[in-house]
Amino acid sequence: MALAAVIHDKAVEFGFDGCGIVKMDAFEEHFDHVRERFRLFPEIAEHRQLREYYMAVVMPEGMPDYAKAVIVCTVRYGKYTLPQHMIGRVGKAYMTDHRREEGTVFYEAVQNMHALLDDLGIRYTYDIGPARWAAMKTGLGVLRKNNFFYNEHGSWHWLETWVIDRELEYLNEPVALPPCPPQCGKCIDACPTGALTEAHTLNAAKCIPLNTYLRYDSLPPAELRPYMRGWLYGCDACQDVCPMNRGKWENGEPFHRLDELSEHMRLEDILTMPDERLNEMVVKKYWYISKRRSWIWRAAALRVMAVEYEPKYKTYIQNALGHPHESVAEMAAWAWGYIRTIHGVTE
Ligand code: SF4
Ligand code: SF4
Repeated sequence: MALAAVIHDKAVEFGFDGCGIVKMDAFEEHFDHVRERFRLFPEIAEHRQLREYYMAVVMPEGMPDYAKAVIVCTVRYGKYTLPQHMIGRVGKAYMTDHRREEGTVFYEAVQNMHALLDDLGIRYTYDIGPARWAAMKTGLGVLRKNNFFYNEHGSWHWLETWVIDRELEYLNEPVALPPCPPQCGKCIDACPTGALTEAHTLNAAKCIPLNTYLRYDSLPPAELRPYMRGWLYGCDACQDVCPMNRGKWENGEPFHRLDELSEHMRLEDILTMPDERLNEMVVKKYWYISKRRSWIWRAAALRVMAVEYEPKYKTYIQNALGHPHESVAEMAAWAWGYIRTIHGVTE
């Protein structure tokens, strides 16, 4: 059997829902799209961490010298039962992030794929490369106007990638899916910050997920905070409204440790729990924010307390005005000003 077919069949055996392999030259059009986004939205390049992220993970500059092809595997997460009070706070994808959850089927599947590539003598870099474009190019699904990858189960998928040193190709029989209706722009209308201004493009500097976990040394811009609504980590707004996702989420399976974790995800808890507990319960799971930057969670909780204000939050916001971390205190000062101006709260 050809090597590409061996990798595909093994991926399915490991538990992935789908797998394809595409050569690097299939990405030129995608790289041009990203360059166009940089041209349209200069603030992306001006944001140091965003620029570094694009260059390290998405653009050709970040690909290893040996890159010849990308293996992409799909992981359907739209089948887990999610805690209702975390919906609108943490993106559904991140609630079910398996990448550091030993014992989950997909964590094991990723380890098995690493081992297979090692056994085959294939050099690889895991978890970089234009995953959605790769999945579309291998026939696993389509990209819709909101930039997400969809197959017959909607957009609720993780995409795992391995950039490899072999010029392999495995293309699937394309999934037959209707295109976005020409008049539909529900995703654009639903984007709270205006990051999604037109089909197939994105001002990443305004996109909520990137402002929740990809700002390492600064708070989200004050003018953006009210529009970030209740999101602490991620955002699903442009997927939730999509008619192509209607009826595609099938509650059923519990996700590893999620119920236990959800008990610690109240805003008050995130703001006040001891550092060790925050690290153990929250940072370990939502690992894009490192332990050293766990203050980001406290600041996010204050932002959401202000935007979705309830009287019980007043004391928490007031108490945080003297928070020892400068950025948390800065967010508390903003939150205090916001609830006084917008919600009419008095001393
Ligand atoms: S993830 Fe949220 S902020 Fe980003 S484009 Fe979609 S709706 Fe807009
Ligand atoms: S909301 Fe409409 S335009 Fe946006 S991705 Fe879904 S079907 Fe396409």
